[in-house]
Amino acid sequence: MKERSDKSVEKAAVDRRSFLSVALGTCAITPLAPLSLQLATSLAGSLTKEQRDSMTPSQVIDELKKGNERFRAGKMAPRDYLAEKRASAAGQYPAAVILGCVDSRVPAEIIFDAGIGDTFNGRVAGNVVNDDLLGSMEFACAVSGAKLVLVLGHTACGAIKGAIDDVVLGNLTGLLARIKPAIPETKFEGEKSSKNPAYVDAVARTNVKLAIENIRRRSSVLADLEKKGSIQTTGAMYNLANGMVDFVS
Ligand SMILES: [Zn+2]
Repeated sequence: MKERSDKSVEKAAVDRRSFLSVALGTCAITPLAPLSLQLATSLAGSLTKEQRDSMTPSQVIDELKKGNERFRAGKMAPRDYLAEKRASAAGQYPAAVILGCVDSRVPAEIIFDAGIGDTFNGRVAGNVVNDDLLGSMEFACAVSGAKLVLVLGHTACGAIKGAIDDVVLGNLTGLLARIKPAIPETKFEGEKSSKNPAYVDAVARTNVKLAIENIRRRSSVLADLEKKGSIQTTGAMYNLANGMVDFVS
């Protein structure tokens, strides 16, 4: 057994080296666009520590934007999940931590065309912040080295509708209470009802903004990293209808 696992580790190391040499080779040929390949070229593995550490937070945002463009165009990067699994088994170096909604239509890795080992993902209805998620984000950035905290809301969110409608149901009641502060904070002209998609989406945007403020206020660990420029905290809205992710910054 031991011999076999040693061999697997060896193979993962070889996979990583070959990925790096491919990446470096590409770098030499097209020095202006090496980063565009970092989240996309997964045929030979996942992000390496060197690749992730060489990126700035705004470059990570750019890679996510490019991944979303590939997704929308139906031109997702060719991907070998087994190679990514092998390459990341001995260690992970994700570039971002994404706080998204549990909604089945908003799988972050797919809409950003990212692979195994590329992003940390926390999902909870209404993409709200709580202590455990803050701890997870602190782990992602302060311990593991991710460069970006992204709060990802989406259109037509059922949790937002539930908060607007004041739904009372078991443990959901407490979760919706975390969304409710976004309702009075939302400036909106028109029908303020869960039946009005524009209003629901306006509240969802406010909810993303408040989540970002919460993260900065409640996590001194993340706030300090952001002040130093090591990470960036930002938000985005995913449009269920057209597949577009609209970043707030
Ligand atoms: Zn949702």
